[in-house]
Amino acid sequence: MVRDKTHQETYEKLCDTAREAAMLDRIQCLLEWDERTKMPPAGGAYRADQAAYMAGLTHQKKTAPEIGAWLGALADCPLAADPNSDTGTVIRCLQRDYNKRARLPQSLVEELTRMSVLGQQRWAEARRDNDFTGFQPLLQKMVDLKRQEAAALGYETTPYDPLLDDYEPGASTAEVARVLKELREALVPLVAAIADSPHGVDASIVTRNFPIEAQESFGTEAAAAIGFDFAAGRLDVTDHPFCTGLGPGDVRITTRYDEHAFSDAFFGILHEAGHGIYDQGLPRADYGLPTGEDVSLGIHESQSRLWENQVGRSLAFWEYFFSAAQRAFPSALGSVQLPEFYSAINDVRPSLIRVEADEVTYNLHILIRFELELALIEDHLQVADLPAAWNEKYQHYLGIAPPSDAEGVLQDVHWSAGLFGYFPTYALGNLYAAQFFAQAQQDLGGLEEPFRRGQFGPLREWLRENIHAQGRRYTPAELVQRITGNPLSHEPLMAHLTSKYGEIYRL
Ligand code: ZN
Repeated sequence: MVRDKTHQETYEKLCDTAREAAMLDRIQCLLEWDERTKMPPAGGAYRADQAAYMAGLTHQKKTAPEIGAWLGALADCPLAADPNSDTGTVIRCLQRDYNKRARLPQSLVEELTRMSVLGQQRWAEARRDNDFTGFQPLLQKMVDLKRQEAAALGYETTPYDPLLDDYEPGASTAEVARVLKELREALVPLVAAIADSPHGVDASIVTRNFPIEAQESFGTEAAAAIGFDFAAGRLDVTDHPFCTGLGPGDVRITTRYDEHAFSDAFFGILHEAGHGIYDQGLPRADYGLPTGEDVSLGIHESQSRLWENQVGRSLAFWEYFFSAAQRAFPSALGSVQLPEFYSAINDVRPSLIRVEADEVTYNLHILIRFELELALIEDHLQVADLPAAWNEKYQHYLGIAPPSDAEGVLQDVHWSAGLFGYFPTYALGNLYAAQFFAQAQQDLGGLEEPFRRGQFGPLREWLRENIHAQGRRYTPAELVQRITGNPLSHEPLMAHLTSKYGEIYRL
Protein backbone atom coordinates (compact mmCIF):
# COMPACT_ATOMS: atom_id res chain seq x y z
CA MET A 1 0.00 0.00 0.00
CA VAL A 2 2.78 2.39 0.99
CA ARG A 3 4.69 1.33 -2.09
CA ASP A 4 1.73 2.10 -4.37
CA LYS A 5 1.40 5.53 -2.81
CA THR A 6 5.09 6.15 -3.47
CA HIS A 7 4.70 5.01 -7.06
CA GLN A 8 1.74 7.31 -7.49
CA GLU A 9 3.73 10.26 -6.11
CA THR A 10 6.70 9.48 -8.34
CA TYR A 11 4.36 9.21 -11.31
CA GLU A 12 2.83 12.63 -10.51
CA LYS A 13 6.29 14.21 -10.34
CA LEU A 14 7.15 12.66 -13.69
CA CYS A 15 3.95 14.05 -15.23
CA ASP A 16 4.54 17.54 -13.77
CA THR A 17 8.02 17.61 -15.31
CA ALA A 18 6.65 16.43 -18.67
CA ARG A 19 4.04 19.19 -18.61
CA GLU A 20 6.71 21.79 -17.82
CA ALA A 21 8.88 20.50 -20.67
CA ALA A 22 5.85 20.78 -22.97
CA MET A 23 5.44 24.42 -21.93
CA LEU A 24 9.03 25.10 -22.96
CA ASP A 25 8.43 23.24 -26.24
CA ARG A 26 5.34 25.32 -26.97
CA ILE A 27 7.20 28.56 -26.21
CA GLN A 28 9.76 27.48 -28.80
CA CYS A 29 6.93 26.81 -31.25
CA LEU A 30 5.58 30.30 -30.65
CA LEU A 31 9.01 31.79 -31.39
CA GLU A 32 9.13 29.72 -34.57
CA TRP A 33 5.59 30.62 -35.62
CA ASP A 34 6.45 34.29 -35.24
CA GLU A 35 9.71 33.85 -37.10
CA ARG A 36 7.91 32.31 -40.07
CA THR A 37 4.92 34.64 -40.22
CA LYS A 38 5.67 38.09 -38.77
CA MET A 39 9.33 38.63 -37.83
CA PRO A 40 11.29 41.27 -39.81
CA PRO A 41 14.46 39.89 -41.48
CA ALA A 42 16.80 41.88 -39.22
CA GLY A 43 15.42 40.00 -36.21
CA GLY A 44 16.84 36.72 -37.47
CA ALA A 45 20.21 36.52 -35.73
CA TYR A 46 18.87 37.24 -32.24
CA ARG A 47 15.94 34.86 -32.84
CA ALA A 48 18.43 32.09 -33.66
CA ASP A 49 20.13 32.74 -30.30
CA GLN A 50 16.77 32.74 -28.48
CA ALA A 51 15.75 29.48 -30.13
CA ALA A 52 19.08 27.83 -29.28
CA TYR A 53 18.81 29.04 -25.66
CA MET A 54 15.28 27.67 -25.33
CA ALA A 55 16.33 24.36 -26.91
CA GLY A 56 19.10 24.10 -24.31
CA LEU A 57 16.67 24.77 -21.45
CA THR A 58 14.20 22.24 -22.82
CA HIS A 59 16.93 19.67 -23.23
CA GLN A 60 18.04 20.15 -19.59
CA LYS A 61 14.44 19.82 -18.42
CA LYS A 62 13.89 16.62 -20.42
CA THR A 63 17.18 14.96 -19.47
CA ALA A 64 17.37 15.85 -15.77
CA PRO A 65 18.91 12.87 -13.91
CA GLU A 66 15.91 12.60 -11.54
CA ILE A 67 13.71 11.71 -14.55
CA GLY A 68 15.92 8.70 -15.21
CA ALA A 69 15.65 7.74 -11.53
CA TRP A 70 11.85 8.14 -11.49
CA LEU A 71 11.47 6.10 -14.68
CA GLY A 72 13.70 3.43 -13.17
CA ALA A 73 11.54 3.32 -10.04
CA LEU A 74 8.35 3.06 -12.10
CA ALA A 75 9.58 0.52 -14.66
CA ASP A 76 8.15 -2.60 -13.01
CA CYS A 77 5.38 -1.07 -10.92
CA PRO A 78 1.65 -1.73 -11.42
CA LEU A 79 1.22 1.65 -13.14
CA ALA A 80 3.43 0.43 -15.99
CA ALA A 81 1.99 -3.09 -16.16
CA ASP A 82 -0.32 -2.45 -19.11
CA PRO A 83 1.77 -0.56 -21.71
CA ASN A 84 -1.38 0.80 -23.41
CA SER A 85 -3.17 2.05 -20.28
CA ASP A 86 -2.99 5.80 -19.55
CA THR A 87 -0.20 5.46 -17.00
CA GLY A 88 1.53 2.70 -18.97
CA THR A 89 1.52 4.87 -22.11
CA VAL A 90 2.97 7.84 -20.23
CA ILE A 91 5.75 5.78 -18.63
CA ARG A 92 6.60 3.84 -21.80
CA CYS A 93 6.75 6.93 -24.06
CA LEU A 94 8.64 9.12 -21.59
CA GLN A 95 11.16 6.31 -21.12
CA ARG A 96 11.64 6.07 -24.86
CA ASP A 97 12.04 9.85 -25.25
CA TYR A 98 14.40 10.06 -22.27
CA ASN A 99 16.60 7.23 -23.56
CA LYS A 100 17.00 8.97 -26.91
CA ARG A 101 17.52 12.48 -25.58
CA ALA A 102 19.91 11.57 -22.81
CA ARG A 103 22.34 10.33 -25.45
CA LEU A 104 22.62 13.78 -27.04
CA PRO A 105 25.11 16.29 -25.63
CA GLN A 106 23.48 19.64 -24.85
CA SER A 107 26.07 21.45 -26.99
CA LEU A 108 24.98 19.43 -30.04
CA VAL A 109 21.29 20.13 -29.38
CA GLU A 110 21.97 23.87 -29.13
CA GLU A 111 24.17 23.91 -32.21
CA LEU A 112 21.55 21.99 -34.23
CA THR A 113 18.85 24.44 -33.20
CA ARG A 114 20.96 27.52 -33.94
CA MET A 115 22.01 26.16 -37.33
CA SER A 116 18.42 25.24 -38.08
CA VAL A 117 17.21 28.83 -37.63
CA LEU A 118 20.20 30.31 -39.50
CA GLY A 119 19.88 27.58 -42.11
CA GLN A 120 16.26 28.47 -42.87
CA GLN A 121 17.21 32.13 -43.23
CA ARG A 122 20.10 31.33 -45.57
CA TRP A 123 17.94 28.91 -47.52
CA ALA A 124 15.31 31.61 -48.18
CA GLU A 125 18.04 33.90 -49.60
CA ALA A 126 19.60 31.09 -51.63
CA ARG A 127 16.27 30.11 -53.14
CA ARG A 128 15.48 33.73 -53.97
CA ASP A 129 18.90 34.22 -55.61
CA ASN A 130 19.08 30.73 -57.15
CA ASP A 131 22.44 30.32 -55.39
CA PHE A 132 23.18 26.74 -54.40
CA THR A 133 26.93 27.38 -54.20
CA GLY A 134 26.41 30.06 -51.54
CA PHE A 135 24.16 27.70 -49.58
CA GLN A 136 26.42 24.66 -49.89
CA PRO A 137 28.71 25.26 -46.84
CA LEU A 138 25.72 25.62 -44.55
CA LEU A 139 24.07 22.47 -45.88
CA GLN A 140 27.37 20.62 -45.50
CA LYS A 141 27.53 21.74 -41.84
CA MET A 142 23.97 20.53 -41.31
CA VAL A 143 24.67 17.10 -42.83
CA ASP A 144 27.75 16.80 -40.60
CA LEU A 145 25.71 17.71 -37.51
CA LYS A 146 22.98 15.18 -38.37
CA ARG A 147 25.60 12.47 -38.82
CA GLN A 148 26.99 13.39 -35.40
CA GLU A 149 23.48 13.19 -33.99
CA ALA A 150 22.92 9.74 -35.52
CA ALA A 151 26.26 8.55 -34.12
CA ALA A 152 25.33 9.83 -30.64
CA LEU A 153 21.91 8.14 -30.80
CA GLY A 154 23.45 4.89 -32.03
CA TYR A 155 22.29 2.54 -34.79
CA GLU A 156 22.78 -0.96 -36.08
CA THR A 157 22.10 -0.80 -39.79
CA THR A 158 22.20 2.77 -41.07
CA PRO A 159 22.66 6.23 -39.50
CA TYR A 160 19.35 7.13 -41.16
CA ASP A 161 17.45 4.80 -38.78
CA PRO A 162 17.68 6.93 -35.60
CA LEU A 163 16.84 10.10 -37.58
CA LEU A 164 13.75 8.50 -39.15
CA ASP A 165 12.74 7.16 -35.74
CA ASP A 166 12.51 10.76 -34.43
CA TYR A 167 9.58 11.41 -36.74
CA GLU A 168 8.11 7.93 -37.16
CA PRO A 169 8.74 6.02 -33.93
CA GLY A 170 9.50 2.38 -34.54
CA ALA A 171 9.84 2.68 -38.32
CA SER A 172 12.97 1.31 -40.00
CA THR A 173 14.67 2.57 -43.13
CA ALA A 174 14.48 -0.90 -44.69
CA GLU A 175 10.74 -1.21 -44.08
CA VAL A 176 10.00 2.28 -45.42
CA ALA A 177 12.17 1.60 -48.47
CA ARG A 178 10.23 -1.63 -49.10
CA VAL A 179 6.76 -0.02 -48.94
CA LEU A 180 7.85 2.92 -51.08
CA LYS A 181 9.36 0.58 -53.66
CA GLU A 182 6.08 -1.33 -53.94
CA LEU A 183 4.26 1.95 -54.29
CA ARG A 184 6.63 3.16 -57.00
CA GLU A 185 6.29 -0.05 -58.99
CA ALA A 186 2.51 0.33 -59.04
CA LEU A 187 2.54 4.10 -59.50
CA VAL A 188 4.89 4.57 -62.45
CA PRO A 189 2.64 2.63 -64.92
CA LEU A 190 -0.41 4.62 -63.73
CA VAL A 191 1.40 7.94 -64.30
CA ALA A 192 2.39 6.72 -67.78
CA ALA A 193 -1.17 5.61 -68.61
CA ILE A 194 -2.53 9.00 -67.56
CA ALA A 195 0.12 10.80 -69.64
CA ASP A 196 -0.85 8.67 -72.67
CA SER A 197 -4.60 9.19 -72.24
CA PRO A 198 -6.19 11.06 -75.17
CA HIS A 199 -8.74 12.48 -72.70
CA GLY A 200 -6.61 15.32 -71.34
CA VAL A 201 -7.87 17.75 -68.74
CA ASP A 202 -8.17 21.54 -69.13
CA ALA A 203 -6.48 22.83 -65.98
CA SER A 204 -6.47 26.47 -67.09
CA ILE A 205 -9.78 27.05 -65.26
CA VAL A 206 -8.00 27.10 -61.90
CA THR A 207 -5.33 29.57 -63.09
CA ARG A 208 -7.84 32.30 -63.94
CA ASN A 209 -8.09 35.31 -61.64
CA PHE A 210 -9.01 34.37 -58.07
CA PRO A 211 -8.88 37.52 -55.90
CA ILE A 212 -6.89 36.88 -52.75
CA GLU A 213 -9.49 38.24 -50.33
CA ALA A 214 -12.10 35.89 -51.75
CA GLN A 215 -9.64 32.98 -51.56
CA GLU A 216 -9.07 33.72 -47.91
CA SER A 217 -12.73 33.88 -46.96
CA PHE A 218 -13.71 30.85 -49.07
CA GLY A 219 -10.80 28.82 -47.67
CA THR A 220 -11.69 29.82 -44.13
CA GLU A 221 -15.31 28.80 -44.70
CA ALA A 222 -14.27 25.38 -45.99
CA ALA A 223 -11.81 24.80 -43.13
CA ALA A 224 -14.55 25.63 -40.63
CA ALA A 225 -17.01 23.35 -42.45
CA ILE A 226 -14.74 20.30 -42.16
CA GLY A 227 -14.29 21.04 -38.47
CA PHE A 228 -11.28 23.32 -37.84
CA ASP A 229 -12.29 25.35 -34.79
CA PHE A 230 -11.41 29.01 -35.33
CA ALA A 231 -12.20 29.81 -31.70
CA ALA A 232 -9.20 27.60 -30.90
CA GLY A 233 -6.99 28.42 -33.87
CA ARG A 234 -6.12 30.93 -36.57
CA LEU A 235 -4.95 31.16 -40.18
CA ASP A 236 -2.00 33.35 -41.23
CA VAL A 237 0.20 33.89 -44.27
CA THR A 238 3.70 32.44 -44.66
CA ASP A 239 6.20 31.44 -47.37
CA HIS A 240 6.26 27.75 -46.55
CA PRO A 241 2.91 26.65 -45.06
CA PHE A 242 2.83 24.71 -41.80
CA CYS A 243 0.66 24.01 -38.76
CA THR A 244 1.78 24.31 -35.19
CA GLY A 245 0.07 23.76 -31.84
CA LEU A 246 0.89 26.43 -29.25
CA GLY A 247 -1.26 25.09 -26.45
CA PRO A 248 -4.63 23.49 -25.73
CA GLY A 249 -7.01 25.82 -27.53
CA ASP A 250 -4.39 27.47 -29.74
CA VAL A 251 -3.57 25.82 -33.06
CA ARG A 252 -2.01 27.93 -35.84
CA ILE A 253 -2.35 27.11 -39.51
CA THR A 254 -0.75 29.02 -42.38
CA THR A 255 -0.97 29.33 -46.16
CA ARG A 256 0.27 31.40 -49.09
CA TYR A 257 -1.84 32.95 -51.84
CA ASP A 258 -1.33 33.32 -55.57
CA GLU A 259 -4.06 35.11 -57.53
CA HIS A 260 -3.60 32.72 -60.43
CA ALA A 261 -3.40 29.43 -58.56
CA PHE A 262 -6.68 28.56 -56.86
CA SER A 263 -5.59 25.07 -55.85
CA ASP A 264 -2.40 26.08 -54.02
CA ALA A 265 -4.02 28.02 -51.21
CA PHE A 266 -7.37 26.21 -51.14
CA PHE A 267 -6.03 22.67 -50.84
CA GLY A 268 -3.16 24.01 -48.74
CA ILE A 269 -5.69 25.36 -46.25
CA LEU A 270 -7.63 22.07 -46.17
CA HIS A 271 -4.32 20.27 -45.66
CA GLU A 272 -3.19 22.43 -42.74
CA ALA A 273 -6.72 22.38 -41.31
CA GLY A 274 -6.49 18.57 -41.32
CA HIS A 275 -3.33 18.83 -39.22
CA GLY A 276 -5.10 21.36 -37.02
CA ILE A 277 -8.18 19.17 -36.50
CA TYR A 278 -5.87 16.40 -35.27
CA ASP A 279 -4.20 18.78 -32.79
CA GLN A 280 -7.58 20.12 -31.67
CA GLY A 281 -8.84 16.56 -31.20
CA LEU A 282 -6.07 15.45 -28.84
CA PRO A 283 -7.26 14.91 -25.25
CA ARG A 284 -7.00 18.37 -23.68
CA ALA A 285 -6.73 17.22 -20.07
CA ASP A 286 -3.60 15.28 -21.03
CA TYR A 287 -1.90 18.21 -22.75
CA GLY A 288 1.87 17.85 -22.39
CA LEU A 289 1.68 14.11 -21.64
CA PRO A 290 2.15 11.31 -24.21
CA THR A 291 -1.56 10.42 -23.89
CA GLY A 292 -2.31 13.93 -25.18
CA GLU A 293 0.28 13.99 -27.98
CA ASP A 294 0.21 13.03 -31.65
CA VAL A 295 1.61 9.61 -32.59
CA SER A 296 4.03 10.52 -35.36
CA LEU A 297 4.54 12.82 -38.31
CA GLY A 298 3.29 10.14 -40.68
CA ILE A 299 0.01 9.80 -38.79
CA HIS A 300 -0.21 13.62 -38.58
CA GLU A 301 0.27 13.81 -42.34
CA SER A 302 -2.42 11.17 -42.86
CA GLN A 303 -4.91 13.55 -41.27
CA SER A 304 -3.94 16.46 -43.51
CA ARG A 305 -3.81 14.41 -46.69
CA LEU A 306 -7.11 12.71 -45.94
CA TRP A 307 -8.97 16.03 -45.70
CA GLU A 308 -7.03 17.52 -48.60
CA ASN A 309 -7.31 14.62 -51.05
CA GLN A 310 -9.78 11.90 -50.09
CA VAL A 311 -12.31 14.58 -49.05
CA GLY A 312 -11.34 17.92 -50.65
CA ARG A 313 -10.58 16.61 -54.12
CA SER A 314 -13.65 14.34 -54.27
CA LEU A 315 -16.64 14.95 -56.50
CA ALA A 316 -19.05 14.65 -53.56
CA PHE A 317 -17.28 17.48 -51.70
CA TRP A 318 -17.69 19.78 -54.69
CA GLU A 319 -21.30 18.78 -55.29
CA TYR A 320 -21.80 20.58 -52.00
CA PHE A 321 -19.25 23.43 -52.35
CA PHE A 322 -19.23 24.31 -56.04
CA SER A 323 -22.12 26.78 -56.03
CA ALA A 324 -20.47 28.63 -53.11
CA ALA A 325 -17.21 28.69 -55.12
CA GLN A 326 -19.08 30.17 -58.09
CA ARG A 327 -20.48 32.91 -55.86
CA ALA A 328 -17.03 33.60 -54.36
CA PHE A 329 -15.28 33.71 -57.77
CA PRO A 330 -17.97 34.77 -60.27
CA SER A 331 -15.63 35.91 -63.04
CA ALA A 332 -13.44 32.79 -62.91
CA LEU A 333 -16.10 30.13 -62.30
CA GLY A 334 -19.45 31.73 -63.19
CA SER A 335 -19.81 29.89 -66.48
CA VAL A 336 -17.89 26.71 -65.57
CA GLN A 337 -19.67 23.37 -65.14
CA LEU A 338 -18.90 21.17 -62.14
CA PRO A 339 -17.42 18.24 -64.15
CA GLU A 340 -14.90 20.58 -65.83
CA PHE A 341 -13.94 22.08 -62.49
CA TYR A 342 -13.61 18.65 -60.87
CA SER A 343 -11.27 17.52 -63.66
CA ALA A 344 -9.25 20.75 -63.44
CA ILE A 345 -8.54 20.35 -59.71
CA ASN A 346 -7.51 16.74 -60.38
CA ASP A 347 -5.22 17.42 -63.30
CA VAL A 348 -2.27 15.01 -63.24
CA ARG A 349 1.00 15.98 -64.83
CA PRO A 350 4.66 15.61 -63.92
CA SER A 351 5.81 18.89 -62.39
CA LEU A 352 8.86 20.34 -60.66
CA ILE A 353 7.47 21.59 -57.36
CA ARG A 354 6.48 19.10 -54.66
CA VAL A 355 3.96 21.28 -52.83
CA GLU A 356 2.10 21.96 -56.08
CA ALA A 357 2.16 18.33 -57.22
CA ASP A 358 -1.04 16.37 -57.85
CA GLU A 359 -2.18 13.43 -55.79
CA VAL A 360 -0.75 10.84 -58.21
CA THR A 361 2.78 12.14 -58.87
CA TYR A 362 3.31 13.55 -55.36
CA ASN A 363 4.84 10.38 -53.97
CA LEU A 364 7.49 10.33 -56.70
CA HIS A 365 8.69 13.72 -55.41
CA ILE A 366 9.01 12.19 -51.96
CA LEU A 367 10.81 9.13 -53.24
CA ILE A 368 13.47 11.34 -54.87
CA ARG A 369 14.07 13.22 -51.61
CA PHE A 370 14.14 10.03 -49.55
CA GLU A 371 16.76 8.44 -51.81
CA LEU A 372 18.92 11.58 -51.87
CA GLU A 373 18.87 12.31 -48.15
CA LEU A 374 19.56 8.66 -47.35
CA ALA A 375 22.63 8.86 -49.62
CA LEU A 376 23.77 12.12 -47.98
CA ILE A 377 23.45 10.73 -44.45
CA GLU A 378 25.12 7.45 -45.42
CA ASP A 379 27.89 9.47 -47.11
CA HIS A 380 27.28 7.92 -50.52
CA LEU A 381 26.55 11.34 -52.00
CA GLN A 382 28.47 14.59 -51.49
CA VAL A 383 26.65 17.88 -50.94
CA ALA A 384 28.49 19.42 -53.92
CA ASP A 385 26.98 16.72 -56.19
CA LEU A 386 23.44 17.15 -54.87
CA PRO A 387 22.01 19.48 -57.57
CA ALA A 388 23.15 17.18 -60.39
CA ALA A 389 21.81 14.11 -58.57
CA TRP A 390 18.51 15.90 -57.98
CA ASN A 391 18.11 16.84 -61.64
CA GLU A 392 18.99 13.34 -62.80
CA LYS A 393 16.34 11.77 -60.56
CA TYR A 394 13.65 14.20 -61.75
CA GLN A 395 14.52 13.25 -65.31
CA HIS A 396 14.38 9.56 -64.43
CA TYR A 397 11.15 9.42 -62.34
CA LEU A 398 9.15 12.30 -63.77
CA GLY A 399 10.69 12.87 -67.19
CA ILE A 400 11.45 16.55 -66.56
CA ALA A 401 14.46 18.48 -65.28
CA PRO A 402 14.40 21.77 -63.39
CA PRO A 403 15.72 24.79 -65.33
CA SER A 404 17.20 26.21 -62.09
CA ASP A 405 18.13 25.07 -58.59
CA ALA A 406 15.47 27.40 -57.17
CA GLU A 407 12.88 25.18 -58.88
CA GLY A 408 14.91 22.10 -58.05
CA VAL A 409 17.07 21.23 -55.08
CA LEU A 410 16.47 24.57 -53.32
CA GLN A 411 12.66 24.39 -53.29
CA ASP A 412 12.15 22.80 -49.86
CA VAL A 413 13.08 24.23 -46.47
CA HIS A 414 13.59 20.83 -44.76
CA TRP A 415 17.30 20.13 -45.20
CA SER A 416 18.26 23.68 -44.23
CA ALA A 417 16.35 23.15 -40.98
CA GLY A 418 18.05 19.81 -40.28
CA LEU A 419 14.93 17.79 -41.03
CA PHE A 420 16.52 14.59 -42.37
CA GLY A 421 14.27 11.54 -42.08
CA TYR A 422 11.20 13.76 -42.34
CA PHE A 423 10.34 13.46 -46.07
CA PRO A 424 9.26 9.79 -46.03
CA THR A 425 6.58 10.66 -43.48
CA TYR A 426 4.75 12.53 -46.27
CA ALA A 427 4.49 9.35 -48.34
CA LEU A 428 3.61 7.27 -45.27
CA GLY A 429 0.90 9.86 -44.56
CA ASN A 430 -0.61 9.30 -48.02
CA LEU A 431 -0.61 5.55 -47.47
CA TYR A 432 -2.13 5.77 -43.98
CA ALA A 433 -4.73 8.27 -45.23
CA ALA A 434 -5.99 5.95 -47.95
CA GLN A 435 -6.06 2.94 -45.61
CA PHE A 436 -7.91 4.87 -42.86
CA PHE A 437 -10.36 6.43 -45.30
CA ALA A 438 -11.27 3.06 -46.84
CA GLN A 439 -11.91 1.73 -43.34
CA ALA A 440 -13.98 4.77 -42.34
CA GLN A 441 -16.13 4.34 -45.45
CA GLN A 442 -16.70 0.72 -44.55
CA ASP A 443 -17.46 1.46 -40.87
CA LEU A 444 -19.74 4.41 -41.64
CA GLY A 445 -21.52 2.85 -44.62
CA GLY A 446 -20.24 5.23 -47.32
CA LEU A 447 -19.29 8.89 -47.05
CA GLU A 448 -20.35 10.35 -50.39
CA GLU A 449 -23.95 11.00 -49.36
CA PRO A 450 -23.02 12.95 -46.20
CA PHE A 451 -20.36 14.92 -48.13
CA ARG A 452 -22.95 15.90 -50.78
CA ARG A 453 -25.01 17.39 -47.98
CA GLY A 454 -22.01 19.16 -46.40
CA GLN A 455 -21.88 16.73 -43.48
CA PHE A 456 -18.29 16.11 -42.47
CA GLY A 457 -19.00 15.45 -38.80
CA PRO A 458 -19.36 11.65 -39.02
CA LEU A 459 -15.90 11.26 -40.60
CA ARG A 460 -14.33 13.77 -38.20
CA GLU A 461 -15.79 11.96 -35.18
CA TRP A 462 -14.58 8.62 -36.54
CA LEU A 463 -11.05 10.05 -36.83
CA ARG A 464 -11.33 11.63 -33.40
CA GLU A 465 -12.37 8.43 -31.70
CA ASN A 466 -10.02 6.06 -33.54
CA ILE A 467 -6.94 8.26 -33.89
CA HIS A 468 -6.98 11.67 -32.15
CA ALA A 469 -8.28 10.50 -28.78
CA GLN A 470 -5.65 7.74 -28.62
CA GLY A 471 -2.69 10.09 -28.17
CA ARG A 472 0.51 8.00 -28.28
CA ARG A 473 -1.19 4.90 -26.85
CA TYR A 474 -0.12 2.85 -29.90
CA THR A 475 2.80 3.09 -32.31
CA PRO A 476 1.91 4.06 -35.89
CA ALA A 477 2.21 0.43 -37.01
CA GLU A 478 -0.02 -0.79 -34.13
CA LEU A 479 -2.58 1.91 -34.80
CA VAL A 480 -2.94 0.98 -38.46
CA GLN A 481 -3.22 -2.70 -37.57
CA ARG A 482 -5.83 -2.04 -34.86
CA ILE A 483 -7.99 0.29 -36.93
CA THR A 484 -7.89 -1.48 -40.28
CA GLY A 485 -7.01 -5.06 -39.29
CA ASN A 486 -4.04 -4.99 -41.67
CA PRO A 487 -0.45 -3.75 -41.70
CA LEU A 488 0.37 -0.66 -43.76
CA SER A 489 0.17 -1.38 -47.47
CA HIS A 490 0.35 0.55 -50.75
CA GLU A 491 -2.81 -1.20 -51.97
CA PRO A 492 -5.56 1.06 -50.55
CA LEU A 493 -3.86 4.14 -51.99
CA MET A 494 -3.39 2.46 -55.39
CA ALA A 495 -7.03 1.31 -55.35
CA HIS A 496 -8.16 4.89 -54.65
CA LEU A 497 -5.92 6.40 -57.37
CA THR A 498 -6.69 3.73 -59.98
CA SER A 499 -10.43 4.02 -59.58
CA LYS A 500 -10.60 7.82 -59.36
CA TYR A 501 -8.17 8.64 -62.16
CA GLY A 502 -9.34 5.72 -64.28
CA GLU A 503 -12.67 7.56 -64.45
CA ILE A 504 -11.29 11.06 -65.00
CA TYR A 505 -8.82 9.95 -67.72
CA ARG A 506 -11.06 7.12 -69.03
CA LEU A 507 -8.29 4.53 -68.70
ZN1 ZN B 1 1.41 18.33 -43.85
